[in-house]
Amino acid sequence: TIYDDSDADLSVLEGATVAMIGYGNQGRSQALNLRDSGVEVVVGNRGDEYRERIEDDGFEALSIADAAERGDVICLLIPDEVAPDVFDAEIEPGLEEGNTVYVSHGYNLTYDLLQPPETTDVVLVAPRMGGWAVRELYESGEGFPSVLAVEQDYTGDAKAIALAMAKGIGSTQAGVVEGTADMETKIDLLSEQALLPIMMAAMTTKFEVEVAHGIPPEIVMSELYLSYEMAEIFEEMAERGYLGQLPFHSRTSQYGQLSRFDQFDAEPLREFYEEQLQGIDNGSFAREWSAEQDLDRPGLKRLYKKYRESAFFEAERETMERLDFGAEDG
Ligand code: NDP
Repeated sequence: TIYDDSDADLSVLEGATVAMIGYGNQGRSQALNLRDSGVEVVVGNRGDEYRERIEDDGFEALSIADAAERGDVICLLIPDEVAPDVFDAEIEPGLEEGNTVYVSHGYNLTYDLLQPPETTDVVLVAPRMGGWAVRELYESGEGFPSVLAVEQDYTGDAKAIALAMAKGIGSTQAGVVEGTADMETKIDLLSEQALLPIMMAAMTTKFEVEVAHGIPPEIVMSELYLSYEMAEIFEEMAERGYLGQLPFHSRTSQYGQLSRFDQFDAEPLREFYEEQLQGIDNGSFAREWSAEQDLDRPGLKRLYKKYRESAFFEAERETMERLDFGAEDG
């Protein structure tokens, strides 16, 4: 089901206070959007460092525990890695019967790392959009798609509250797709663990083949993504669909793309996707990542080091420096 503005009623949140826990990428944008939609919002953040910024934005800045106690809808918009501990120590003690726990990613629900009391509603509204764009697309009135899920409906109003929150943050303007937290976790993790690695492998392998054939690395790199041509193609794909944007390419390109796509053997990719999905489904990735975090992420640090020193990313760095185009420090 896809919901739009007409399916959501903001009056469900009348008289309710939304406690925004976390004021980062999503927290700040969602808080500002909700307030502009007429919803009462208080912000709970750790420490005092960012109090000024929160107050400059016109919000009441509270401790996490105080905000959780004050809120009727408690939005958990801090990093997923720390959310379960913060929830258990500072949020759960302040929850009341009939409160709503709101998250923007399914991970902690899927792996039972977050276990809100049975006497609360639990909803998910996961913007398919970065925090900065969540604010910008609200202000422009375009909105942005989200996945919505009701994971626990204690009051019987959880769906109406989730839809009102989706409308308040500006998502129903574009369309909200209903699913479950597990589905949202799966598509998100499978993009991270398979689609993006496949794309990176496709690009690094192209680099290796072309450089081996005597093409200078900077020519290879500028074709890949540094010129923004690829970003523009993806933007047109979102706008017009893949086939819809093909006519903007030359006929040679259109024929080359479609004929080779048609011939491409995707079976090894399918196997890779299946394998990763299995690790997502059976929790082995989640266990691996939890263990990694307990040791202060040695594997992640090793991988960063390995790839920073690789020929591909060295060529990327050098080309970015010399292109003087696009990149922030270019
Ligand atoms: P951020 O990393 O931007 O969150 C930063 C906020 O969390 C800050 O307020 C920070 O406090 C607080 N914080 C960090 N560590 C702790 C801690 N140990 N204890 C208490 N507070 C802490 O998070 P995102 O906005 O990126 O993500 C929030 C949620 O939204 C996640 O569930 C994520 O999966 C989801 N999401 C994120 C998207 C994105 O665009 N990044 C897209 C869609 C969903 P301080 O200011 O003091 O540092």
